[in-house]
This record gives sequence, structure tokens and C-alpha cells, in this order.
Amino acid sequence: MTTSHLTMEQLLAVRDGDRSEPAYADAHQHVGECDGCRLELDRLHQRTARLRALPRMTPARNQFPAVRTRVVAERRQRRLRAVGIGGLAIAASLALVVMGRDLVQPNRLDAEQQIATAKSESQQLEQKLHDWDPQSRVLNSRAAVMVMEIEDRIADLDVRLAQTQESDRQLVLWQQRVGLMNTLVEVHLTRASNVGF
Ligand SMILES: [Zn+2]
Repeated sequence: MTTSHLTMEQLLAVRDGDRSEPAYADAHQHVGECDGCRLELDRLHQRTARLRALPRMTPARNQFPAVRTRVVAERRQRRLRAVGIGGLAIAASLALVVMGRDLVQPNRLDAEQQIATAKSESQQLEQKLHDWDPQSRVLNSRAAVMVMEIEDRIADLDVRLAQTQESDRQLVLWQQRVGLMNTLVEVHLTRASNVGF
């Protein structure tokens, strides 16, 4: 019987119906008896649903081959490191390079202002993650996989941003990027609170 509240790893095991380890089996029982952890599990389900609701990005491989190569190399490096936030910083600098070149004059001032707002939000979240230095912390394997998945999607978004001229489309992409950044912050926060950081 688990006496303390569940870790992110145990919550994810419950979400996935994973009972392959005694700690996971205990976690299933704990959720049945603890309102707090059941609430935490509900929030996790909601976050998962939000992630799945995001359109899967599938950039065309023939366009922007240099960008694509860089993103792939970056992912490989990230997987080798197991997890970290360094790749995100690369993705961010990539986005800045891209924005400098490809941000066309939007037809409407409205769109331009909203893009600027989304960009600034995205940068603030990036800074927040940077200040926390999540790389210095050890993520459990499931949280690490979540972080990698989110970072991959952010990298995909950056590729899409590089290919998009239309301001309305850019706005949607930037807003999705802010959503992903928020989820990323939330994963780090949840995981941190669950292990008592
Ligand atoms: Zn509990």
C-alpha cells in the first residue's frame, strides 16, 4: 500500500493502465482511495487530451531541407542526452532566424499585433523554463518522454513557421506554440511538485 501521494511516473502508469511493477499496481489502488491523486489524474487526462487534440505536424521533407536536417540532428542529440531543455533553446533561436526572414507584412494590423503577443508569450515561457534550469533536474522516464514529445512538436511547429507566409496561418502556429510551451511548463511543474522540489 502506498502511503505517500503518487509521483508523476505512477500517475502516468495509472493513466496507461500499466501494472507491470509493484509500485504501479499500488498506484492504481491509491488512486481509488485518495481524492487528491484522483484529481491529479483527471488533470493529467485533460492535459493528455489537449496534447492529442493538437494537429500532428507533418512538414514536407523536400522543403527547407537545411532546416529539416537541423531539426532532425537536434532531435537525435536530444535523444542521446535522454532529455533536456537545450534543444528547445535551439528551436527557439531557429524560430527567431525564421521570423526575421519570413514574417511578411500582415494584411491586417490585428494579425500582426496578435502574432507579436503570441511571440512574446512564447519567449516569456521559454525564459521561465531557462531560469528554472530543468536540465539540472532528473526527470523520470515517463515525464522525459512527454517532454521529448512536446519538444518534438515545438520543433515541427518551427519548421511549419519557416514555411508559412500567410499571417493568419502564422498566428495559428504561434498560438499553438504558446499552448505547447504552457504544457511543457506544466509538465515540469507537476513533476516537480510530485517529487517535492
Ligand atoms: Zn494521494
